[in-house]
Amino acid sequence: MKYTVLSLFPEIIDAYFASSIMAKAVSRGIVEYRSINIRDYALDKHRTCDDATYGGGAGMLMLAEPLGRALEAAGASMKTDREAGSGPGKARVIYLSPSGRPFDQALAHELAAEQELMLLCGRYEGIDQRIIDAYADDEVSVGDYVLSSGEVAALAVIDATYRLVEQVITPASLEEESFSAGLLEYPQYTRPELYGMMRVPEVLLSGHHENIRRWRLERQVEKTLLLRPDLIRLGEEKGLFSDEIRKIIEEKRRSGMAASEENERD
Ligand code: SAH
Repeated sequence: MKYTVLSLFPEIIDAYFASSIMAKAVSRGIVEYRSINIRDYALDKHRTCDDATYGGGAGMLMLAEPLGRALEAAGASMKTDREAGSGPGKARVIYLSPSGRPFDQALAHELAAEQELMLLCGRYEGIDQRIIDAYADDEVSVGDYVLSSGEVAALAVIDATYRLVEQVITPASLEEESFSAGLLEYPQYTRPELYGMMRVPEVLLSGHHENIRRWRLERQVEKTLLLRPDLIRLGEEKGLFSDEIRKIIEEKRRSGMAASEENERD
């Protein structure tokens, strides 16, 4: 997987790629990375990258020209050229934006399968619409709130996707985590057995694999019913759940555990 990030503040992104598991993935050659400073493509003496919006309104907008030059230098080409078969552009070009497709685990899996993601980070009031129209394959939003910078959103997309790339982390850790089977993860504990007055649940110390598996599954269902009933409904609609999970859901509902489903958020 290769990430190309276009930004006015590439040092934010560079720091992430130099840390922890990501740094290891980069040094092992599993992940490739380059950052492109959009300001290097502003040609005037002040290296201007923003200006007031046509039609009036508060705030500044990122200029099309430096953005277009930066994208071309990174190897992107206009969608019209790509469709005509004349441009190179193997990368999927993504503009991070509150107007974008909501980012979730399914989209993370989809993007993790790409050869290259080219992430375009906005600032100020955003970027000139013509750049979005000409170059962006997708607009992606990390949530219904407004950040002041695309860098933070790009890092969320990078973080959630690179860990799904083969060899970055062990597949078993991915299978068991939240959202992978339409449920949230079960509660987990590590040493010590007694923390203050709080004891680790007995079953986890029993060494009885089947009981542990069953206990964890029940906690997953309980937790998801309580905190994210919308995920349970979605899983039911999509037929994601095994017979065993469906039975547990039924039991929990019958025992009144799902009262919170009535207060669910839509
Ligand atoms: N005026 C814009 C917000 C601009 S915020 C609007 O009202 O929609 C500045 C930059 O931060 C954007 O260009 C975008 O790249 C990034 N950004 C802000 N919120 C985001 C979100 N929820 N998801 C992804 N990117 C976001």
